[in-house]
Amino acid sequence: MNKPLILVIEDDKPVRTLITTTLKAHDYRFLEANNAETAILETTSHNPDILLLDLGLPDMDGVEIIRRVRTWSNVPIIVISARSEDADKIEALDAGADDYLTKPFSVDELLARLRVTQRRLSMMNRDGAAQSEFINGRLRVDYAAGCAYLGDAELHLTPIEYKLLCLLSQNVGKVLTHTFITQKIWGNSWENNIASLRVFMATLRKKLESEPGSPQYIQTHVGVGYRMLRIE
Ligand code: CA
Repeated sequence: MNKPLILVIEDDKPVRTLITTTLKAHDYRFLEANNAETAILETTSHNPDILLLDLGLPDMDGVEIIRRVRTWSNVPIIVISARSEDADKIEALDAGADDYLTKPFSVDELLARLRVTQRRLSMMNRDGAAQSEFINGRLRVDYAAGCAYLGDAELHLTPIEYKLLCLLSQNVGKVLTHTFITQKIWGNSWENNIASLRVFMATLRKKLESEPGSPQYIQTHVGVGYRMLRIE
């Protein structure tokens, strides 16, 4: 199988060189763009498999690129940003980004994020649209029957816990923001729903994780949201 084609959108030359050198060393194919206009042009003309997107570009905010690309494409977008503020990450994720890296990042971190995204990509390609069952490690969600199992044992979940589990599993590998989750579960993102989310997430984890203190399935992104990890 061909390595995916990655579009690197970054105006800072040393950072771009670091990324492309890493990609080259690991046998990835890549394209480069140093501004938003080129990025959008390259995305439409070469149909890359993954976008690595710096948020601070000279001609347009990176979040605006995400919004535009999302009008016609579901291509995975990993945001790379010098801004460490949660608000920027959240804005990018809510606009449709899949994941984020905060500068300075290590080459290993970059490669790890690419692997997560590739797994998500291969799943998306394999499963196409709807599927009736989700399997991840020992977890199995039978969407058709409305049940979840851990190994052979059925998980006894409340309706909200089950909805949460479905939402996370259907977006496995992707960071979901508090706002996104509460909108999907309750239809709005009021403060008290975000507080409830923490409680429901804690009870779900107690049932799902063998060690809730070091969760295997559901990762917390402090101040941002949650992500279900794909278990090898
Ligand atoms: Ca920049």
